[in-house]
Amino acid sequence: MKLANVFKNNQEWITQKLNEDPAYFDKMGSGQNPDLLYIGCSDSRVSAEELMGLSPGDVFVHRNIANMVISIDLNVMSVVNYAVKYLGVKHAIVCGHYGCGGVKAAMQSADLGILNPWLRNIRNVYRQHSNELNAIADETKKYNRLVELNVQEQCINLLKTAVVQRAYRKGELKIHGWVFDIFTGKLIDLKIDFDSILNRIMEIYKLE
Ligand SMILES: [Zn+2]
Repeated sequence: MKLANVFKNNQEWITQKLNEDPAYFDKMGSGQNPDLLYIGCSDSRVSAEELMGLSPGDVFVHRNIANMVISIDLNVMSVVNYAVKYLGVKHAIVCGHYGCGGVKAAMQSADLGILNPWLRNIRNVYRQHSNELNAIADETKKYNRLVELNVQEQCINLLKTAVVQRAYRKGELKIHGWVFDIFTGKLIDLKIDFDSILNRIMEIYKLE
């Protein structure tokens, strides 16, 4: 990958888009109306639009290390609030991936400096599900399961916010937990049953 190629690639992309639709950039400039909010990992292998076959304008995207939804992270909370309240997205997706370096790091005993408080949130997911995880002898299977459970917990973190609770209750927003398998390219819907999870936790987290 040469950085100079990026600008050449960009010019070729512009030409290709205009060939397909001469008004492509006029439409792009007129505003956005995406149906999807995608919260994924910063990992360079897990792109948002490309793996779903979608285009610019289709997805409102937030990415961070290990696709975390942390209540005091002003960045992710601003993205969620803007997407749900002002863009009116219909689906919020948390997408993790097998082979996630952030999840792997959280499974190991190592002082990673400024990453420690971030990764501690994943360690907390491990602690919450330690009975299930410790019963898995195979390290890769345990690692994959923590990736999945982390996605589930981040979806629940979305449901702890007032803006998501409001939209979810009105039936205007659906939450989805997905995992991208970087070894096969497959996108997997974890089919998490949020209604039954909500029944269990709402007496604690209900805000309005
Ligand atoms: Zn990752």
